[in-house]
Amino acid sequence: MTVTKFIRKLLNLKGLFVNSYHFKIRDRILILWVKPYKNGCLCPYCKRRGRIVRTLDEPRQWRDIPICGWSVFLRYCPPREILCPTHSRVQEDIPWADTYARITYRFEYAMLVYCQLMPQKAAARILHIPKSTLSDQLHRTITRIRDGHRIRGLKSIGIDEISYCKRHKYATVVYDLDRSCVVWVGQGKGRETIDEFFNEMLSKYQKRQINWASCDMSQAYIGAIEYHCPNAKLVLDRFHIAKALNEAVDEVRKEQWREASADERKSLKGLRWLLFRHSSNRSKKDSRILNALRKGNHRIHRAWVLKDEFEQFWDYQAPWAAKRSLKRWMTTALKSRLEPIRKFVKTIKKHMNRIITFIESRLTNAVAEGLNRIIKIVKNRASGFRSLLAFTDMIFLTVGDLDIPAQIPVKFRAI
Ligand SMILES: [Zn+2]
Repeated sequence: MTVTKFIRKLLNLKGLFVNSYHFKIRDRILILWVKPYKNGCLCPYCKRRGRIVRTLDEPRQWRDIPICGWSVFLRYCPPREILCPTHSRVQEDIPWADTYARITYRFEYAMLVYCQLMPQKAAARILHIPKSTLSDQLHRTITRIRDGHRIRGLKSIGIDEISYCKRHKYATVVYDLDRSCVVWVGQGKGRETIDEFFNEMLSKYQKRQINWASCDMSQAYIGAIEYHCPNAKLVLDRFHIAKALNEAVDEVRKEQWREASADERKSLKGLRWLLFRHSSNRSKKDSRILNALRKGNHRIHRAWVLKDEFEQFWDYQAPWAAKRSLKRWMTTALKSRLEPIRKFVKTIKKHMNRIITFIESRLTNAVAEGLNRIIKIVKNRASGFRSLLAFTDMIFLTVGDLDIPAQIPVKFRAI
C-alpha cells in the first residue's frame, strides 16, 4: 500500500485520490493534494464528463475535519469551467464539497452535529476554527440546506413569542403541533410579523387545511388566525391562562403585603411560590399553611380558593358541563371584591368560547411549551444571541421541521 493510499484509507476519504501531502509543522496543518476519481470534469447536474474550457491557475482549498491535533486541508486545482453536452458551460462538480463552499461535506456534517449537542464555542474549539467563522459557516450551510424547503401537511399550529438578546427583542415562533417542531421564526411579535408568515409561507389551500390553532391571549395573534384561517378553531393556550390567573392572585398578595404591618408580614413571607403551585403538587405542610390563612389573611385565602376552584375546570370532559362550571366560577369570582381577580374574569369572559374549545380539542401549547424549553436551553447555552439570524439557525437545527444533518449525503456522515 502506498502512503497516499494509506492516508486515504486512514482518513476515510471518499470520492477522491490523494496525490501528495505535506505537513506544516509549525502551524500543525496537514495539506493533502487531491483530485476527484476518474479525473473529474463531471457536470454537477447530469454527472456526465465534459471538455475543459477554462482552468484555474490557483489551487482551491477546503477545510476538512481535524484529526489528532492536525488541521486538515484538501487542495485541488479544478478546471474553472467545463462544457457539458446538455448544460453547456458549467463549473466542475466537486465530489467532496458543495460548489461554492470552503469546507467539505464531512466538515459540514461534523459542525451541524456538534452544534446540536454543545455551545458553538465548544464546537469551534473542537473543529479548530474561530467561533465567528463557525457561525458564518453554520449559517451558510443551514441556509443552503433549507433553501427550497416547503412547509407540508400543516393541520394544527401554535403561535408563541420568545425573547432573545436579553429580553429586549422578541421573535414569533410558529409550531406544527402534530409533529412537534418549529416551522417558522420571524422578528417581532406584532400583527405584521404573523401576517408575513401567513402571506409568504402558506398557500390559500394550506391556510384552509388548518383545523386547530393555539396561541396566547394576544390580540395580534388571535386577529391574524381568524383572518387567515377560515376553518381553524382557535384554542387559547391553557398555560397562558393559568399564568394570567397566577399573576392576578399574586397581585392580591402584593396588595396585602403593602398594607400589612411588620408583624403581619411575618406570616405572609414565602407565600408567593406556594400560591403559584398547582394543587396536585402541594404537600400537606403547604396546605396547612394555606388553610391557616383563613384566619390570618382572609383576602389572600379567598384568592387562593378561587384559583384552586378554577383549576378543576380543565378536567371536564363535556363542553356544556365545563361551560356551566366556568360561568358559576365567574359569578363567584366577581362577588369576591378582589380587583385583580375581577379583571381576570373580564378577560376570560371576552375569550369564553375559545377557552371552552380546549375541552373539545385537548389541544394545548404543551408541545410548544416543550419546544420552547429546548429553545431556552439553546439560548442559555450560547448565553444569548445578538442577532435573530444566529438564533434562528440554532432553532431550526435543534427543533426545526427539517432534520438538517440528515440532508448531507450518507457517505460523508463520518465524524
Ligand atoms: Zn450536464
